[in-house]
Amino acid sequence: KLHNTILELKGNIRVFCRVRPSLPDEGIGSEAIVSYPTAAESLGRGIDLMQSGQRYPFTFDKVFNHEASQEDVFLEISQLVQSALDGYKVCIFAYGQTGSGKTYTMMGKHDQKGLIPRSLEQIFQTSQALKAQGWKYKLQVSMLEIYNETIRDLLLPRSSNGLDLIRSDSGVGGKQYSIKHDANGNTHVSDLTLVDVCSVREISSLLEQAAQSRSVGKTQMNEQSSRSHFVFTLRIFGVNENTEQQVQGVLNLIDLAGSERLSRSGATGERLKETQAINKSLSSLADVIFALAKKEDHVPFRNSKLTYLLQPCLGGDSKTLMFVNISPEPSSTGESLCSLRFAARVN
Ligand code: ADP
Ligand code: MG
Repeated sequence: KLHNTILELKGNIRVFCRVRPSLPDEGIGSEAIVSYPTAAESLGRGIDLMQSGQRYPFTFDKVFNHEASQEDVFLEISQLVQSALDGYKVCIFAYGQTGSGKTYTMMGKHDQKGLIPRSLEQIFQTSQALKAQGWKYKLQVSMLEIYNETIRDLLLPRSSNGLDLIRSDSGVGGKQYSIKHDANGNTHVSDLTLVDVCSVREISSLLEQAAQSRSVGKTQMNEQSSRSHFVFTLRIFGVNENTEQQVQGVLNLIDLAGSERLSRSGATGERLKETQAINKSLSSLADVIFALAKKEDHVPFRNSKLTYLLQPCLGGDSKTLMFVNISPEPSSTGESLCSLRFAARVN
């Protein structure tokens, strides 16, 4: 009975933890800090952290150790990705301090492709296969960044003078991006670039364009990419020509801003504003997921731009997965503990 109640409470929210390997310049032996799935079973459910001689145990829906490959991880989420084709609204987040492996998990590196390219490949393949049963799909992509509570369109066609790069909803150099949800649960962001896509190759070049647009921001605005949330959205419209059945699904893949607490004494001016914006949006995200899991009447979606943008994809019968990314370095133990506690709260 109790077990059932807990499952019900959790609803459609899952939390996966992933510990990245030590990098070549980090030395070895750091894995001693955490006890988690052994090499033989790269996938488990428990992770223990040691800090100042004290042991902190956590349990999640899944825990991937440093040996889990991109393919191993994708295998565990491919069902969830598939459900977007069946008409569900899906959100997959990567949460963790800068350097913990969020972008590696989401985007990947070189041939170690992450969740975004793998998900898209699978969706294209499946939608092709479903043609035989009369299904026709329209796929539409948008990519944006939320920095200091303002939206930046990452797919703006670049003008020759590059001025479009600073267009954001702060009103600087252009339009205000306003977010509206219609009665059907569809989200409209005014002036946001939406691109119809028919192949994985098209999306790859869009991802490149977005990455470029982000890195330009990075030099201009102080490592912006780790201080902003990256939101990739794929909208799926399916219609069956035999049965006239229709489906509309959404897949949101979100690389969150680094969760590290910046030393309060050091942060002033822009940096302080950034930190406050990140803290606000990450804690709002936790508040929203927590309220949804507890089926509370009031869910505080409006407390941050990120939660407001994703509102229709977080409530109702939508599905949410949070990756909490962990760095194995001893110097990161404090941050890792914070990340695990954050994830345990939403789990
Ligand atoms: P974040 O986006 O959280 O700041 P990154 O994804 O950029 O962190 O990861 C930091 C570094 O660690 C990068 O060089 C990345 O390639 C590497 N890395 C992260 N996760 C893994 C992994 N599972 N296997 C191998 N290398 C990884
Ligand atoms: Mg990153």
